[in-house]
Amino acid sequence: MIQEIAPRRYDNAFASRREPVNTDAVLYFEGNQVLLREGDLISFPTVGEICEGSPERRGFLIYLFAIDETAYYLLPLEKMPELSGYQMAPVDRFRYGKPEWLGYAGITASQLYRWISDHKFCGKCGKPMRPSEEERAFCCDSCGSVVYPKISPAVIVAVTDGDRLLMSRYAGRPHGNYALIAGFTEIGETVEDTVRREVMEEVGLKVKNLRYYTSQPWSFSDSLLMGFYADLDGSPEITLDESELAEACWFSREKVPEPKGLFSLTGTMVDAFRKGQYPR
Ligand SMILES: [Zn+2]
Repeated sequence: MIQEIAPRRYDNAFASRREPVNTDAVLYFEGNQVLLREGDLISFPTVGEICEGSPERRGFLIYLFAIDETAYYLLPLEKMPELSGYQMAPVDRFRYGKPEWLGYAGITASQLYRWISDHKFCGKCGKPMRPSEEERAFCCDSCGSVVYPKISPAVIVAVTDGDRLLMSRYAGRPHGNYALIAGFTEIGETVEDTVRREVMEEVGLKVKNLRYYTSQPWSFSDSLLMGFYADLDGSPEITLDESELAEACWFSREKVPEPKGLFSLTGTMVDAFRKGQYPR
């Protein structure tokens, strides 16, 4: 999956005072675009490149995390830095681009970028916020409000009926691939409640015997995905929520479509079902 970057090691320990060195990486975003080296491979500008001729930029850099010995910094400028050999590219490149571990670095940085850019001002009193020196948070000195990074819990559900798997396609994505039932946890729910509610809402089915599989940070939607297998409980008759789904149907194991990749939890769970290697 996208977060599996071994033997490289992701280190998210908070370190606001870590001094950038010239070989560290710099992330510059504008909405859903990111500054990348021209070419097919994912490659970020370095601190040395960004600060050459503009040494004052070093003072703007915000430490995000490290992978092995390299630190990753956000450059929170309003205007793209002039940098020969680099251009803005869609953040979606991180989904399929190579090398995968830099895709993971990029998408994780994009989640922090959205959180940082959304908290320049306090949502409670409207005064400017400042980054905390003790933890990964923004503080308001005026009213005392503290805001932590946005991570939304969500579930992915593989509904099974013996040797059959329920798969669906989202509405409004004509060429979309088959997926599993998915949805965000609502306030006041356990993740098990989310599983039962989402399955009922999207396809009108009851489930039982929920088995947790694994989780995945999915920064594309600021979420933390939790994967479950669940057995059909009762009738297999599907009642489609047409506002969300274009199609949902049962596939016998040998007819389950091969996932496009194993970078996502959905792909990994579908693959595990196809191979019969999932919790029963
Ligand atoms: Zn405030």
